[in-house]
Amino acid sequence: MEKDSKPATGGCQCGAVRFEACRRLTGAFICHCRMCQRSTASAFSVNALYPRDAFKLTGDIRWYASSDIADRGFCPNCGTSVVIRYHAPEWSGWFAVSVIAHDDPESIPAEAHVGVESKLSWLNVDDGLPCITYPETFLEDIGADDNKIFHLVNEMSTREP
Ligand SMILES: [Zn+2]
Ligand SMILES: [Zn+2]
Repeated sequence: MEKDSKPATGGCQCGAVRFEACRRLTGAFICHCRMCQRSTASAFSVNALYPRDAFKLTGDIRWYASSDIADRGFCPNCGTSVVIRYHAPEWSGWFAVSVIAHDDPESIPAEAHVGVESKLSWLNVDDGLPCITYPETFLEDIGADDNKIFHLVNEMSTREP
């Protein structure tokens, strides 16, 4: 499952936290869930998944457990939210990395909206991308074959860039 083998670099606003990766798993997800909204203090987050073994973080990153399923890594100096690590064993090989924190965010176009049950009503989305709702059983069936997000990740990671 590899989306892109071009090197990617990025980091926080002040530059104290940096990352580089040699492979990427998916294109960008636009996530409207409340955790992403609160963590970024914005209407949505934009993240792409990377294999952990292909992703190198440098600097003094801090982790905040934003929910039972994930920790969010941020720069303690400037506060930029850079990366998410998941607890579920099925997802433990991934990092979700802010596309906007990349040095070249244009290089990773959005491929789907997720968590649209929390999308702000005044935000109009008509870009034709798939819109996925997080099911209420999301936490229980996180790694199941019929988990919509798990499905979407597999689909995105095998689609041609
Ligand atoms: Zn910083
Ligand atoms: Zn989210």
